[in-house]
Amino acid sequence: MGGALYGNAGAYGGQIGTVVRDLTVMNRGGEIRTVAADYCGFGYRDSYLKVSREIVISARFCLRMGDRGLISREIDRILAIRGAKFPPDGRTAGCFFKNIPDPSQPFGKLPAGKLLDEVGAKTLHVGGAKVYEKHANIIVNTGTASSKDISDLADILKKKVLQKFGIMLEEEVIRIGSFPT
Ligand SMILES: Cc1cc2nc3c(=O)[nH]c(=O)nc-3n(C[C@H](O)[C@H](O)[C@H](O)COP(=O)(O)OP(=O)(O)OC[C@H]3O[C@@H](n4cnc5c(N)ncnc54)[C@H](O)[C@@H]3O)c2cc1C
Repeated sequence: MGGALYGNAGAYGGQIGTVVRDLTVMNRGGEIRTVAADYCGFGYRDSYLKVSREIVISARFCLRMGDRGLISREIDRILAIRGAKFPPDGRTAGCFFKNIPDPSQPFGKLPAGKLLDEVGAKTLHVGGAKVYEKHANIIVNTGTASSKDISDLADILKKKVLQKFGIMLEEEVIRIGSFPT
């Protein structure tokens, strides 16, 4: 839950920030307090927690009542899409790049995967890192990838999209460590 709130995880038009009511956070000095959801200033894959560096200890959510059958069917529908698009063995960090804000697109975002597809991303690999053949915005570790393989592949993808569309993709994945180019 911590990482989901930190990055305001979301998909298919929903984001966790819209259903959280309040959070208990601890600052780097060890002080604990409860703050309302507004405090987090949730944005697209963003929250104030990235600035404040506070640690989420707990959170309360406020959900809407709904029809159990309808909700189950919606869950099944989304899981089926996920099942078809995401690698089954889980050797991925999920979508690598953020979608691009565009009010003319469904959910107000132009999928980064669409641009990546158009630059031939699905055929690319570096060492043990490759772009997933069913989803161009997913980098998978085939088993032997180093973090540098993944980083180098991501840099190639960014360069290709920049050259073709003039758009600099922003990473959704957070890199830890240094990755000299
Ligand atoms: C297969 C796959 C599919 C995914 N699909 C989606 C998707 O559709 N939409 C989407 O938005 N995301 C998606 N993600 C990304 C996902 O949201 C994050 O990987 C996840 O939320 C990270 O949570 P975590 O608690 O494991 O955090 P970690 O991976 O441990 O940390 C992630 C970041 O959150 C911070 N953090 C972690 N815990 C706390 C805490 N308690 N308080 C404050 N900061 C904290 C860390 O410092 C770090 O910077 C996907 C990931 C995978 C692997």
